[in-house]
Amino acid sequence: MTARLPLTKFQASLPNLPRHMLRRISEGPGNCWILRGSAKHHPYGYQSVSINNSSVLAHRFAYETLVGPIPEGLQIDHLCKVTSCVNPEHMEAVTGEVNVARSNCTSAVNSRKTHCKYGHELSGSNLYIRPDNGKRQCKACANQRSSAHKRKRSSQT
Ligand SMILES: [Zn+2]
Ligand SMILES: [Zn+2]
Repeated sequence: MTARLPLTKFQASLPNLPRHMLRRISEGPGNCWILRGSAKHHPYGYQSVSINNSSVLAHRFAYETLVGPIPEGLQIDHLCKVTSCVNPEHMEAVTGEVNVARSNCTSAVNSRKTHCKYGHELSGSNLYIRPDNGKRQCKACANQRSSAHKRKRSSQT
């Protein structure tokens, strides 16, 4: 009964996405395609859609359907910063590091980080938590920095 309701003009203008997904999209500022909330809420505000009886992240699904496969290990960054937006033109596939670096929320960033930028694991004896600001730091890198500093100093003498 409800399945045949006509799409709005905006929804009908969108590219080929499943109809049940189109029905949840409304036009946002800056040409965002805002996907209305579903019952299930993702912690970061991402919406999910049901595809072939499984729940997938809506923005990733839109990107893969309309742009192409997301390379392994890459994350989708919203250039418009609207996490419920599913307009693939507003998305960019980036490495986790870039996505993290772009995020403004330091504590969320730090809690997600499992490795330093040189790939050392940030856990156990390699993890140093700065008492002044609570930042997680890599001990291996800190040691390397200080020994390089010492080497430089000794070669000068
Ligand atoms: Zn957007
Ligand atoms: Zn390191």
